[in-house]
Amino acid sequence: MTSVLDDVPKSYWTKRRRIVKSVNKVMEETSDLDVGHDEGLTITEMVGIDATRPGNNAAADASRSLISLECDSASASSGSELSVDSDMCDHIPDFDDGEHISDTSSLSSDLSDEWDLADQLSNWVLTYNICKDAVTALLHMLHVHLPGLPLDARTLLKTPDSSNYKIKTITGGSYYHFGVASGLKKLYDDGFVANSTASDTRLLELQVNVDGLPIYKSTNYQLWPILGMVVNVRDKVPFVIGLFGGQTKPGSISEYLCAFVDECRGLEETGILLGFDVYGFRIHSILCDAPARAFVRKTKGHTGYYGCDRCVQSGKWLSKMTFPEVAAPKRTHVDFCSKVD
Ligand SMILES: [Zn+2]
Repeated sequence: MTSVLDDVPKSYWTKRRRIVKSVNKVMEETSDLDVGHDEGLTITEMVGIDATRPGNNAAADASRSLISLECDSASASSGSELSVDSDMCDHIPDFDDGEHISDTSSLSSDLSDEWDLADQLSNWVLTYNICKDAVTALLHMLHVHLPGLPLDARTLLKTPDSSNYKIKTITGGSYYHFGVASGLKKLYDDGFVANSTASDTRLLELQVNVDGLPIYKSTNYQLWPILGMVVNVRDKVPFVIGLFGGQTKPGSISEYLCAFVDECRGLEETGILLGFDVYGFRIHSILCDAPARAFVRKTKGHTGYYGCDRCVQSGKWLSKMTFPEVAAPKRTHVDFCSKVD
């Protein structure tokens, strides 16, 4: 019998085809024997590696450990026993019943065309919350037989590499800028339809929302997302422009909004190229609740004595802040810029 390890092909798919071929060959050779599921068909037999060959002791050991590995890694104690754990079998698709084993032609097409072990393993790890160290160890064992599989749990699970993200440290926490342009491009890729009633369909009007949200009861850690939504298209889908996380709210509003403001300025000046068209861009509105509005504008909070947005008057405290004067002078742009009260 020819071992698949004798001649390692360059391509992973070629390798897989060879494995399938070897499996078929083994199946033909052993078709007279009544090898049932209950007798414990080993992985090595399935992939056509002759575990009895002297050179393949390591492979045989590896497969033995693999098969006796319990689903729950904490209770894995049967290291030396050669037993097929029925749960484990359930999580190895296409190897779990005699139907696939006996039907070699369907096994062949399944393996070469559809079956993606890495994806299946990845789902299994996430479903049963398998410890990542255990997954890495398992992958090292499987790698002997299936070199196309990754060696590390992080690669298998496609864990994002945090070094790829330019997370900025700003006062109070960290900030990541997803970007307005990338949100608009995604909107375009998803096939947005300009609202036919809009006067200028080549103009994208962005509504912005800034708010803080606590995410745990036990700590003060909070997220401050900057969200955007184009209002003059038919399917309005909000997207994240930037995200701040920290133990307090952003310590400096300038640092927090810096990337967003810079990008919006650029987009307003030059527009944005989507497909073959340049679209104009402008901020439609900024929506915030009262505390976030005061924070973004760096004004007094809504519970402060001069907390009214609309007029200049000192409030009265009647177990909560009230503003009883109805004819107080209105606030003006000049007042705002010169930070009057
Ligand atoms: Zn007022």
